Amino acid sequence: MRCPFCGHDDTQVKDSRPNEDAAAIRRRRFCPGCGQRFTTIERVQLRELMVIKADLRRVPFDRDKLARSIRIAMRKRPVDEERIERIVSGLVRQLEASGETDIPSAQLGELVMDTLREVDAVAYVRFASVYRDFREARDFEAILGSLAPEISSGIRSAAHHDSGAQQDTVAETGPGPAKAR
Ligand SMILES: [Zn+2]
Repeated sequence: MRCPFCGHDDTQVKDSRPNEDAAAIRRRRFCPGCGQRFTTIERVQLRELMVIKADLRRVPFDRDKLARSIRIAMRKRPVDEERIERIVSGLVRQLEASGETDIPSAQLGELVMDTLREVDAVAYVRFASVYRDFREARDFEAILGSLAPEISSGIRSAAHHDSGAQQDTVAETGPGPAKAR
């Protein structure tokens, strides 16, 4: 592995260990050229996945970007980082298991929403409101209507409260708006 700091092409592995669910291995590396340390993460990749955007551009599936958009939706929710990692790994496995290498971004968004709905209602509404570009109140009400009454009444204020700045942030890193309705 080439050193990202100085370009030296013979860095040394100092430590390797699996993460919590053993789905990845973290390696601490040391560069004898410049003395910098860095970490690489090794994961199984069954297929090279591509995402088809709404404008039909084909871009490589970006696991980190998916994880970022989920982390933003989960912000300050009682879901720890380890659980988020497992959610992301589960999503990737589902995508790989589908047998398709080209995944429409709309389908990816739906898959994330289906998963978040099971995990945390507030995160689901945050993600859905950005992803589906639900600006109108009736769309928001429609999402809440799909949730159990005791949950939707509890999150009405919370989700409204952090619309605005947060939505813009999610929009930047999310899988992009769905054109098809
Ligand atoms: Zn170096």
